[in-house]
Amino acid sequence: MASRSRWPSTRSVLRLFNLLPSYNLSPLLHTVRHNGTVAAAAEVPESRKSPIQILRTAAEVRSWRREQLTKGLTVGLVPTMGALHAGHMRLVQSSMRMNDATMVSIFVNPSQFAPTEDLASYPRDFDADIEQLAAQDGDNRQVDVVFAPHVEEMYPNGIPLHIAEQKGAFVTVHGLSEQLEGRIRPQFFRGVATVVSKLLNIVTPERVYFGQKDIQQTVVVKRLVQDLCYGSVVHVVPTSRDANGLALSSRNAYLTEQTRQDAAAIYKGLQNAVMVYRQNTSAEKIIEAVVSTITEKFDKEEIEYVCVNDKDTLEELETVHPLKGAIVSLAVRVPNKFGGKTRLIDNILL
Ligand code: AMP
Repeated sequence: MASRSRWPSTRSVLRLFNLLPSYNLSPLLHTVRHNGTVAAAAEVPESRKSPIQILRTAAEVRSWRREQLTKGLTVGLVPTMGALHAGHMRLVQSSMRMNDATMVSIFVNPSQFAPTEDLASYPRDFDADIEQLAAQDGDNRQVDVVFAPHVEEMYPNGIPLHIAEQKGAFVTVHGLSEQLEGRIRPQFFRGVATVVSKLLNIVTPERVYFGQKDIQQTVVVKRLVQDLCYGSVVHVVPTSRDANGLALSSRNAYLTEQTRQDAAAIYKGLQNAVMVYRQNTSAEKIIEAVVSTITEKFDKEEIEYVCVNDKDTLEELETVHPLKGAIVSLAVRVPNKFGGKTRLIDNILL
């Protein structure tokens, strides 16, 4: 068979935090108008007081960055879209361990959303994000600074969601963006590569952190960093999971209690892939193991894809070479509390 893929169908939150006069960091939904282009996007109102320094502009970030450089301090960057959970915090902890200073960016990036996707309704809770980031680690350290730019700062000429209407500079990582997630979300990795480039140009961190949860994103970003000669080192942090194995995701908030429980079958399927692989290196057999486990809880049609790919090239494999290993990745459309479906993605390394 030529194709082995399946395409069918502290909480030590600074006590100070609670004592401070009330401030409102809640995100607002905002419409950006620039040169005739319009895009709904998340915006954050100005905070009055915050337990963490919040920077809004590239100029502020560059000035902060210069200070760190002058003091000889290393900087780690953790790019996020907010609605932070323990998975994001694991990236933050990695950065805090490895760097003198850690910056977390919170920016819901319009260009990676198709017009049909959930940009307007993407979960946002800026107050809760700041509260989590203000929590100190075991060594009494906390995140140094948050970069929460407005859309105009990142896209000064506007950003229409329809790709055909987008003008200006965008970054595409050819050959790694079209398969897997890229097949379902054709503009996704162009949007990701573009915003990551902007962030790396603004922050110039020594290290930048991404989660294995979005494994194709890590492959795309590593290649972007190599090909465009960025000086930052990309670190990939293992996936954080619920007790039942479900990979933590901001979009899990869309699930019902029942589907959240049922979604445990996704990781069970991936674990079964590893068991099968120990006996059999055929991608077909590995995929069968995943599909048969997931279909104990979900319809076959809800599985968008299960694929076995090379870890660097993302080439689809028929057989896994034991010395090279592979990625098993999938997307499942899980019924949500709005009567629709939420796409969950996950993966495991062989
Ligand atoms: P997002 O806010 O969804 O764009 O995610 C920001 C970063 O957190 C990305 O590098 C994600 O891969 C990472 N991330 C999201 N969920 C998890 C998770 N469950 N475990 C580890 N990293 C994660």
